[in-house]
Amino acid sequence: MDPICPIDSKCASLISALLHPSPPPQVQEYFGELISARQCPGIQVNQNGGFGKGVYANKEFKEGELVLKDQMLVGLQHPSNKIDCLVCSFCFRFIGSIEIQIGRKLYLKNLGVSSSNGCGREKYFSKYHSAVGSSTEEDDSCMEDSAPGRCGPKVSLHNGVAESLMNGELILPHSDEFSLPTVVSCPGGCGENFYCSKSCAEADWNSSHCLLCTGARSQSLCKEALLGFIQHANDTNDIFLLAAKAISYTIMRYRKLKAAYLKHHDNYSTSDEMPLLLEAWRPISIGYKRRWWDCISLPDDVDCSDEFAFRMEIRELAFASLQLLKDAIFDKECEPLFSLEIYGNIIGMFELNNLDLVVESPVEDYFLYIDDLPHPNKKKAEEITQPLLDTLGDDYSVCCQGTAFYPLQSCMNHSCCPNAKAFKREEDRDGQATIISVRPISRGEEVTISYIDNDLPFEERQALLADYGFKCSCARCLEEGSS
Ligand SMILES: [Zn+2]
Ligand SMILES: [Zn+2]
Ligand SMILES: [Zn+2]
Repeated sequence: MDPICPIDSKCASLISALLHPSPPPQVQEYFGELISARQCPGIQVNQNGGFGKGVYANKEFKEGELVLKDQMLVGLQHPSNKIDCLVCSFCFRFIGSIEIQIGRKLYLKNLGVSSSNGCGREKYFSKYHSAVGSSTEEDDSCMEDSAPGRCGPKVSLHNGVAESLMNGELILPHSDEFSLPTVVSCPGGCGENFYCSKSCAEADWNSSHCLLCTGARSQSLCKEALLGFIQHANDTNDIFLLAAKAISYTIMRYRKLKAAYLKHHDNYSTSDEMPLLLEAWRPISIGYKRRWWDCISLPDDVDCSDEFAFRMEIRELAFASLQLLKDAIFDKECEPLFSLEIYGNIIGMFELNNLDLVVESPVEDYFLYIDDLPHPNKKKAEEITQPLLDTLGDDYSVCCQGTAFYPLQSCMNHSCCPNAKAFKREEDRDGQATIISVRPISRGEEVTISYIDNDLPFEERQALLADYGFKCSCARCLEEGSS
């Protein structure tokens, strides 16, 4: 493929240093720190030859026991899901109140607001790992919202109901049993990001949002370019928004490292830049990467003979997105991050490692609670709740949906007869990944999950796993493959 990005050649040696795998002791140290920060002493990350990593049990686990809880490095709620769920933009907990969740959804639907990304994302199909067994089909709401004339409520409610739910005038029966954190607005004033707490707002601001905020206090270079970048991502593929977060996160880490360095040194010469940028990049460096346009699987509707053209198109799409991002947040000292090579590898890393981000909705629990009330109370409550339920229709229980990169989980290898799975327990109400054992795991055993639907026959499983770049040789595949 012809070079199209001048930074690729200008920063070639820095780029190859960034993409070079870290030496094993550094990787070990990184995961050691991560595991102690996550407080999951039952596991360790081992390198099993060359590139490969795996998560191993340090102790015995009983069936159904929590193996690890992993915080995302970067994550994103799908833009189309924002109509249905108001969640913290940092930890993805539901916020506001049951009334705000319901009122806001009715209000937006009444306005005929449809998700801005529509189904454009479909065109640039991305498989996003679905190992986490999201219970809701990802694109249902998307399809429905963008179908003309289907945005309005199925049963019309009195106009003021949505507003009085949102402004607190209308309190629903028993909603106090489901209290949610008060909504904190973005300190940058974008009106796009909301948080469950001041600490989440600050953490998000300092880690990446200050550069990507479209509000008055944004630290981006050019708001028009930023808005253009966001629009382009919404029209094509929201994975670009996640890549922008990863770049912004690395720039912010670089600036903090540099500030700390300057406290003890008189100056920082540009020839020293690389070690700090490498250090800033370290959390992203540990994820297995390939260029997006090389690793993306060919959509079913693209003929094999058009494969090269398809991959070129994907690469050009990424380049167009990157130019908008560069105009919005470029930092000369972090120039290699704005090369197409790095951008493609970051997106490819998400393509190969990301998990679906799913957080169950408290609105569903609320309606189930009302349904379970004893007789006279139930009838009384339903006088108010039933019309809301009828208006919301099947959409009442839509959960928060997105995609995220989890550093520890991304080290877990696949098996078609895994001993663990991603599973949200009753108490897991935010965007962290939780992995529980599905059978007893002994000390020293590798902890595995399945990347695909395990009920599929051998050939179909192998075909799906080929998209992840490997041939499965788990015990089950060895047995089924030989018979
Ligand atoms: Zn939060
Ligand atoms: Zn903001
Ligand atoms: Zn297998």
